[in-house]
Amino acid sequence: AAGTSGLPDIDTSKLKVNKNTSPKTPPPAKDLKFGHTFTDHMLAIPWNVTTGWGAPQIQPYGPLALDPSSTVLHYAQTIFEGMKAYRHDDGKVTLFRPDMNMKRMNNSAQRIALPTFNGDALLSLIKELVRTDKHWIPREPGHSLYVRPTMIGTQKAIGVGPPSDALLFVICSPVGPYYPNGFKPVSLYGTTEYVRASPGGTGAYKLGVNYAPGILPQKAAASLGYAQNLWLHGPEHHLTEVGTMNMFVVFRKEDGAIELVTPPLDGMILPGVTRDSVLALAREHASGKNRLPNLPEKLVVSERPVTMKEVREASLSGKLVELFGAGTAAVISPVDKIGYLGQDVLIPTGADGMGPVSNPIWAELVGRQTGAIHSEWSVV
Ligand code: PMP
Repeated sequence: AAGTSGLPDIDTSKLKVNKNTSPKTPPPAKDLKFGHTFTDHMLAIPWNVTTGWGAPQIQPYGPLALDPSSTVLHYAQTIFEGMKAYRHDDGKVTLFRPDMNMKRMNNSAQRIALPTFNGDALLSLIKELVRTDKHWIPREPGHSLYVRPTMIGTQKAIGVGPPSDALLFVICSPVGPYYPNGFKPVSLYGTTEYVRASPGGTGAYKLGVNYAPGILPQKAAASLGYAQNLWLHGPEHHLTEVGTMNMFVVFRKEDGAIELVTPPLDGMILPGVTRDSVLALAREHASGKNRLPNLPEKLVVSERPVTMKEVREASLSGKLVELFGAGTAAVISPVDKIGYLGQDVLIPTGADGMGPVSNPIWAELVGRQTGAIHSEWSVV
């Protein structure tokens, strides 16, 4: 996507690099808490409605100066992305399907009237930023560098409208594995009091405004002893997402086939990169194009609505095989129960926490992310 027509788009040849003169020493990997540590540099690119995208700058990580009237602070004009850079055993550093994050960020920008941009240009600047702070990527297994592109409206004016100014910035955070001690299944609270997204709303975009309203329901779920919200929708309580992850459920069918199901992209589901990757791997296996070791032979892959009634009945009749969340941070997150209308719906989990479908898919995904398995999804 180009910026507002006719105006300069992001120009990588205009990059200015202002090196941090007091770089920090990265903390030991064991002390990392997800999203709490940041590298020495950030990328910043300003935009203005009459001059388009300005010169990109790699600069020392530090506070932004924002006018209190900045539109982002009043009207939530903010979008973000989340992706990871992995260090392979041979020292190579790769991003996982970053083109999908660039496309999704442009879709998010378009949805809230922030400027769009050339995704290839931003990606090559992100690569330069990661190269600059490469020594921050922990060498320990399962670790990575979480990359957080963000865009905010910075017009200094009170009034709701497309902002005349915006700032795109990217920060990086070294992170450890989500499950350092093996997979630990989580419990979900089937939330009927609140909704995450609605038809015609913004659930399919990665907007800041989708996240703050989820915190109170998350606290409510935690106070009832559940780890995450299972976001339901409509009178039939359709399953949509798990916390901030997409979700999959696996059923055993009458004919013995195994069905992997995820809700369709109906405008209420964030189109996750992990979701798309799980679907692609499962479909290649099912079609025989690329068989995955240990994945059930007769696999049916469905993007279709699922209700709590179907999940509860399958749980009671023994037809429920597993249920899991999928997202960049945790990759795969197995679920062992859902608190629903005052009762717990129990979900089988495998010996090591993961089930017969999620385990082989997880192994393939992580293999491709970390370079153990060669894949075009991995971008140097
Ligand atoms: N749903 C929501 C609401 C999310 O915030 C995320 C994390 N970006 C996901 C799903 C998973 O998306 P991805 O696989 O691209 O990380």
